[in-house]
This record gives sequence, C-alpha cells and structure tokens, in this order.
Amino acid sequence: MTPLVDPFGRAITYLRVSVTDRCDLRCVYCMSERMRFLPRPELLSIEELDRLCAAFVARGVRRLRFTGGEPLVRRGFIDLLKGVGRRLGRGLDEITVTTNGVQLAEFAEDLFRAGVRRVNVSVDSLDRETFKRIARRDRLPQVLEGIDAAERAGLKIKINTVALKHDNAHELPDLVRWAHGRGFDITFIETMPLGEIDEDRTDQFLSLTSVREDMASYWRLTDLPDRTGGPARYVRVEETGGRLGFITPMTHNFCEGCSRVRLTCTGKLYLCLGHEAAMDLREPLRASADDALLHETIDAAILLRPKGHDFQIERMSKPATARHMSVTGG
Ligand code: SAM
Ligand code: SF4
Repeated sequence: MTPLVDPFGRAITYLRVSVTDRCDLRCVYCMSERMRFLPRPELLSIEELDRLCAAFVARGVRRLRFTGGEPLVRRGFIDLLKGVGRRLGRGLDEITVTTNGVQLAEFAEDLFRAGVRRVNVSVDSLDRETFKRIARRDRLPQVLEGIDAAERAGLKIKINTVALKHDNAHELPDLVRWAHGRGFDITFIETMPLGEIDEDRTDQFLSLTSVREDMASYWRLTDLPDRTGGPARYVRVEETGGRLGFITPMTHNFCEGCSRVRLTCTGKLYLCLGHEAAMDLREPLRASADDALLHETIDAAILLRPKGHDFQIERMSKPATARHMSVTGG
C-alpha cells in the first residue's frame, strides 16, 4: 500500500485519535461547564475505530496517540487498545495515551498489558484549590494517585501543563521541580483558540516566550535537538537534569516538519489542528466492509492538507475553529 505523503512532501506517520468528546473534568480553557456532548450514535464504535487505525497503519502511520475528551471514560477503550496493540512491531512502533489521570489508578495496568509504554498526564496545578478552579472538579488527589499507579505499572510519564496567566503562571517553576524530581518530562502548552468556552481566552493567554525567559533567569536551559514531528521544542534544565518542552502554536510556526493528522470521535479526519480542512471517513467506512473506498477517501483527504495553521493571537477571543480540542483531540 502506498504511504501517505501530503502535497508539501510531508509523510504522515502519526495519527491522533479522539475516542470520545466526553470528559470527567471541565477545564476552563477547554470546555464550558454546560458542554453539550455529541449524541452516542454519532460516535465511531470500538470496531470502527479499530478498522480505521488498521487502515492508517497499513498506509505508513507508525505512531498512534489516543486522546479525547477523556479516553479513559470511553467504554471499550481497553479492548480497542488490545486490538490495535496486536499491530505493534508489525508496522506500528508505538501506542500512547493522553489522559487527565483521574481514572488512571484503575486502568494503568490494563494500559501496560495492552502495549502502552508512555502516557501523557495533564496536570495544571499541584495546589488542590487551583486545580479545582481550573478543572471545575476537585480531583487532584485522584490524579496524583493515578500517576503513582502508572509509575508502578511501568509506564513512562510525561506531564502536560497549560500555562495560564492568572491561574498557574506563578506555579510553573514548582511544577518543573516536581516533575523532574520524579523523573518525568514536562511540557508547557499555550492556550489555543479552539471551540467556545465560558470565558475570554485572551485574558488567560500567557506567551511561552516570556515563560521561557523567566525560567532562563534562574535556571540554565540548553536547547535540545529532540523533535517529535509535532509542535514541541525541548530544553534541558541543567540544575534538575530534566527535559522541559514548550508547545507554542500561537507564537511559533511548527508546521514545516509536522507529520500528524487527527481523527475525531465521529470519524472526521482533520489535516491540521488549527485549520478547517477535513474529510469524513465515517461514511466510506460504513458504506462497505471492504476498505477500498476508505483508502480512496484517505488519499483525497491528504491532498487537502494545508501548508500551515491559521492561529492569530489578535483573534484569540474568537475561536479560530468552532470545534473544541476535546472533539479533535489535543
Ligand atoms: N482529557 C485528556 C487530557 O486533558 O489530557 C486528553 C484530551 S485534552 C483535549 C489534551 C490536551 O489538550 C490537554 O493537555 C489539555 O490541557 C490540552 N488542551 C485542551 N484545550 C486546550 C486549548 N484550548 N488550548 C491548549 N491546550 C488545550
Ligand atoms: Fe477534559 Fe482534557 Fe478538556 Fe480538561 S483538557 S476538559 S481533562 S478533555
């Protein structure tokens, strides 16, 4: 089968799959308190998700990341991982999961048994009150228990933290110390204008350029060449010995080497996180048990891939795209 290469010569080797738009938290930058979730029949079934993943692996995708919404709230998620996990070493190099950690204590061992070796856990604050304000749910203790369980199960952990001007800016150095002290990489993320929320995002936007300058004023930061085919850039914090990443879609362009496409929980393939270019794969998938039409549609979709994303800080108060990160997958 021919590998997927977009019109700008970039090979598609990474697929991010959102398995649900539902979540057990309501982070202020991500969704509204009264978020309206998709009706269940709209979602791809576990079997359909498995078939789509297999089709992409057959076309050269080597890494799969499962996300959401919160992937651990999706019924059948572990079965999906077990199915997909059988392709590890047969075209597929890695399966990873991005989770808020709330239910990780229950599922960590299952994840490991299914072939997952690395998880990204989102932690925006280590202070219970601040966590509760950001996530609108009092779940920090569960998340920390989940992280302990993941470590015991043998999973490598990376922490994701969205940098927020008012809520956690002052806490970022402590988060780095904590993560590095436990042997975890940590990545800061700038808020992105995706989907309607209850607040104005401009108000919480914190440029990571200034965060980095701040960190560099009391730590020695050494640029690392590490690239993951995505928007993160890494430095080594010499004093802690740990790795710190910055995901800065608003202030830096990361599109040139981008190898990623994203599949929503309804089967829409988005060719870029910050762009509307997309193609529905659910219809061709449901139209026939044979994958020919599906592969034709994937080929047509890849031709739509834009050169780069379309975020602008001046337009931050209005979402660049109407869809939430929880639908497309972060
Ligand atoms: N629920 C899981 C979690 O929180 O890790 C997985 C899905 S979540 C959409 C993936 C990542 O996207 C999280 O690290 C989250 O903090 C981040 N995120 C969500 N909405 C965002 C936004 N508007 N801008 C930047 N990052 C966002
Ligand atoms: Fe849920 Fe993740 Fe969005 Fe927070 S960022 S509301 S945990 S999907």
